[in-house]
Amino acid sequence: MPLVKVSRRGANRLKDGHVWVYRSDIVDAKGIAPGALVAVADEREKPLGTALYSSASQIAIRMISTEAVTDLFSLIRKRIQEAIAYRERVVRDTDAYRIVFSEADFLPGLIVDRYNDLLSLQVLTQAMDTDVVRQAILAELSERLAPQAIAERVDPRVRELEQLPARSSSLLRGEKTSTIFTMNGVRFHHEALEGQKTGAFLDQRENYAAAAQYARGEALDVFCYHGGFALHLAPQCSKVTGVDSSLPALEVADRNAELNGRNIEWIEANAFDLLRDYASAGQKYDTIVLDPPAFAKSKSNLETALRGYKELNLRALRMLRPGGILVTCSCSYHVSPSDFLQVVTQAAQDTHRTVRLLESRTQAKDHPILLTVPETAYLKCVILSVS
Ligand code: SAH
Repeated sequence: MPLVKVSRRGANRLKDGHVWVYRSDIVDAKGIAPGALVAVADEREKPLGTALYSSASQIAIRMISTEAVTDLFSLIRKRIQEAIAYRERVVRDTDAYRIVFSEADFLPGLIVDRYNDLLSLQVLTQAMDTDVVRQAILAELSERLAPQAIAERVDPRVRELEQLPARSSSLLRGEKTSTIFTMNGVRFHHEALEGQKTGAFLDQRENYAAAAQYARGEALDVFCYHGGFALHLAPQCSKVTGVDSSLPALEVADRNAELNGRNIEWIEANAFDLLRDYASAGQKYDTIVLDPPAFAKSKSNLETALRGYKELNLRALRMLRPGGILVTCSCSYHVSPSDFLQVVTQAAQDTHRTVRLLESRTQAKDHPILLTVPETAYLKCVILSVS
């Protein structure tokens, strides 16, 4: 097996429990093939474990074991078994959840989501794209979970960055492309080869149930996508409106409302414009959900992202009636929980509202957070009482 030597800084990072070494901390990786399984050692050749190599990414190696690995096929299968066993312990009230969450399951570069009888996977690195790894993944998932079909969702930009040949989203096993899944008793349509990410935002599942506990009166779900929050709030609320800029997303949201026998109003609009117009027209709500896309895609646009979050939260706070509920989210890893709370605090100060923290939440437990890999924690969901 080829050997990759890492600098003292890289070695220390691994000893601290992280699983990445950046290219700038690689001392020697000459001639190593893209996606290769490599032994990792420090500058004195003390072994540090086994990793997957990328020739393209700034993250040159991602650890897959702290030990020597000879049989990658079996290791991948074992890691998938462990990931499935973990979900059996922590996931409740759903047949849709993340089965493999990349680094957090020691399968860096692989995402697998389950939607009832369909599985959706995403391959994000050179190593996960190799034939042996793909075969191990498909064999284990088919054997353990016996899905009706397994779809691969391709993000063309990721493949380009990893210098992998273009590939389109397709079914890798089976023929079924649509199903219905259920979370917290709410039903959703799923199309294996359509929609964003692998189809739904499963990371919000536990937050939907939490938000529903406080929701009441007239509710506005901003950035509603397929209606995850709106559908969960509907039983507690007198009226629910969902807003998104994507018409295809709203069409699915509407079918979901029908599937659950709910009457929800959907508005296709730019959320920033709509909130500004509604706020200046004096429109009021009792419950508002804000779940925008990641504004900070990198550290460099953190300031702009924070301004975006501030503006949304300011407008929402202005529109809440006394005793109202604000459910406000950020899925930008680069915005820390304390940055986010600070922005919301500033919005509370600027609007002179008294805001009480009901719950400070994160991603659902099937998206595990590894304490030694901070990048695995990205979702913030804060529930506030506003008077
Ligand atoms: N709350 C959703 C997930 C939201 S993802 C759920 O729980 O499933 C972010 C959504 O914001 C996407 O559906 C995207 O179409 C929408 N979006 C992005 N920019 C927008 C904008 N400027 N105005 C309104 N919607 C926008």
